[in-house]
Amino acid sequence: MTKKAFASSADLAEKAQTLEVLADGVYALTAEGDPNIGAIEGEDFLVCFEALATPVAAREWLAKLRQHTAKPVRYLVLSHYHAVRVLGASAYGAEHVIASQDTYELIVERGEADKASEIGRFPRLFDAVESVPAGVTWPTLTFAGKMTLWLGKLEVQLLQLGRGHTKGDTVVWLPQEKILFSGDLVEFDATPYAGDAYFKDWPATLDAIAALQPEKLVPGRGAALQTKEQVQRGLAGTRAFVSDLYASVSAGAKAGRDLKSVYRETVDRLRPKYGQWVIFDHCMPFDITRAYDEATQFADPRIWTAERDVEMWKALES
Ligand SMILES: [Zn+2]
Repeated sequence: MTKKAFASSADLAEKAQTLEVLADGVYALTAEGDPNIGAIEGEDFLVCFEALATPVAAREWLAKLRQHTAKPVRYLVLSHYHAVRVLGASAYGAEHVIASQDTYELIVERGEADKASEIGRFPRLFDAVESVPAGVTWPTLTFAGKMTLWLGKLEVQLLQLGRGHTKGDTVVWLPQEKILFSGDLVEFDATPYAGDAYFKDWPATLDAIAALQPEKLVPGRGAALQTKEQVQRGLAGTRAFVSDLYASVSAGAKAGRDLKSVYRETVDRLRPKYGQWVIFDHCMPFDITRAYDEATQFADPRIWTAERDVEMWKALES
């Protein structure tokens, strides 16, 4: 077995970014499997969804968005706390940064550790990391369950539909346009990162997304899903991955096997079906470690630190 480079440290190829207009005033930036983000234009201002990894990266996105609208960003909505999606926040000049109360609590508990951990895992996305302000990105407004923003006549709902990718996942739902921004709860042709996940809850959260009957869905990574059929495929693919991985890991744990042997077996089992998805090799050690924890003795995800990342990687990939 050849030794794999740690996480995405060897992933250095730039991805092409595309600004897609999903409906009048509804924008998504997709990037061939790199993190996606979005923006919604009201009469007077913009709501932006997620912030990219650095202010420099966020400014490049804003320059693209400025070809369509010059309105100020009033609200920046964070789908969850992961550094790769929040550390660019300062570039937006938003009046308010909104997150769920659960996400706020995770930032208090593990925001600093996550920042150091993620910068180590994915140096390409954190190019220009020196533009990130010291400390972590704090929400200025929090909510529990549901919050509605009115952009003139356009209704924008921020919804917590259950735990999945993290404890605090928030989706943005446009009920009139039937467009949903899922954050990392749904991925398409990209491997779900589940190092901080709740495997047992995730499928029900996907059910709650499906129940909204979105006609378009912007996943956390991968192409924007532009028809009901594509949305179904995105939801089904994410569900299958989460369920297959947890079934394999929990069966191994139940049989009393150790993490390393469960890891080997699960990677071999999942690779034929999912190995072509981006960041598969990056995610598997984290995802399987978390699934093993959840199946054994840790109801809540343990905090990843830069040191724990490397120790885990060495233990599983050596
Ligand atoms: Zn994430």
